[in-house]
Amino acid sequence: MVLLLAGCAAKPEESASRTVFAMDTIMNLTVYASDPAPALDAAVREIYRLDAMLARGTEGSEVYRYNHGGAREGELDELLTLAENIRDSSGGAFDPYLGALLDLWGFGSGAGEHRVPSDEELADVSALLDLGGIAKGYAGQRVLEVLKKNGVSRAVVDLGGDVALLGKKPDGSDWHVAIRDPGEGNYLGILSTSGSKYIATSGVYERFFEENGIRYHHILDPRTGRPAESGLVSATVICESGVWADALATAVCVLGVEDSLALRDSLADTVKFDIIIVTEDGRAIYTCDGLEPDESSGYAFERAS
Ligand code: ADP
Ligand code: MG
Repeated sequence: MVLLLAGCAAKPEESASRTVFAMDTIMNLTVYASDPAPALDAAVREIYRLDAMLARGTEGSEVYRYNHGGAREGELDELLTLAENIRDSSGGAFDPYLGALLDLWGFGSGAGEHRVPSDEELADVSALLDLGGIAKGYAGQRVLEVLKKNGVSRAVVDLGGDVALLGKKPDGSDWHVAIRDPGEGNYLGILSTSGSKYIATSGVYERFFEENGIRYHHILDPRTGRPAESGLVSATVICESGVWADALATAVCVLGVEDSLALRDSLADTVKFDIIIVTEDGRAIYTCDGLEPDESSGYAFERAS
């Protein structure tokens, strides 16, 4: 009897990590569990499944098939419905149908050459699905689900700079995530948080090209068809939903400070999120400022001194 009980006792938690290349970026998964390997395997399979599903340029992917006249159904339909909802509630700042526009600028997965399109080309552009603005957020969200199903209650998943968090640190304290300062190459501050959270950063410094001394980056303003000129360098969004966090980080880059703060207010009943913005003139704007943990959001942001 004693032996049997000993056999049933929970194994101590151990941590295990995995690095994968997917969605055009390097991802790092760290999970804590008594038997982490199967959970990690399942999470990695999920990432590859979503990469294959959402890659617009990969023949046979669901997005590719949809763009070539295929049916809108199943998981893609659900994700697209959410993406359209975010488009509508962001006043069109986030738009999942910019594929052809991105291709014109050479930012598409069709990997055309970088160039500045003519006004005629911009006016003529057709609508083509591109989920590059939410793929990582959706993957992060799904990975947390898969990990939970496999008995994992704490994890840190870095999806190429965006981070999905689950639970708390093994010692019961909050996770600490450094928020990068694009200008200084340093960090802006430390975010302390726990639970299921997604922290997405979009920046105009991530992908760009230069022509005649002008810099053109990959976050496009759907209203102009051109790279957003909102005065922002980067936007970090913290939200319990990975898809919303990822999409809103892009939308905030398009909208700029005032409109983004107004958007946050207008969405208060739909989705709770916080924003950390860095502007071109070096200002940093937080909706989660303060050293005291904010009871309503469950996290604190401490500025680097
Ligand atoms: P990254 O994937 O580099 O972290 P983001 O999360 O900021 O970048 O998403 C940028 C990607 O989203 C672009 O590469 C493009 O595929 C797509 N995109 C660009 N502008 C928009 C927009 N206004 N709305 C939706 N998607 C966009
Ligand atoms: Mg993003």
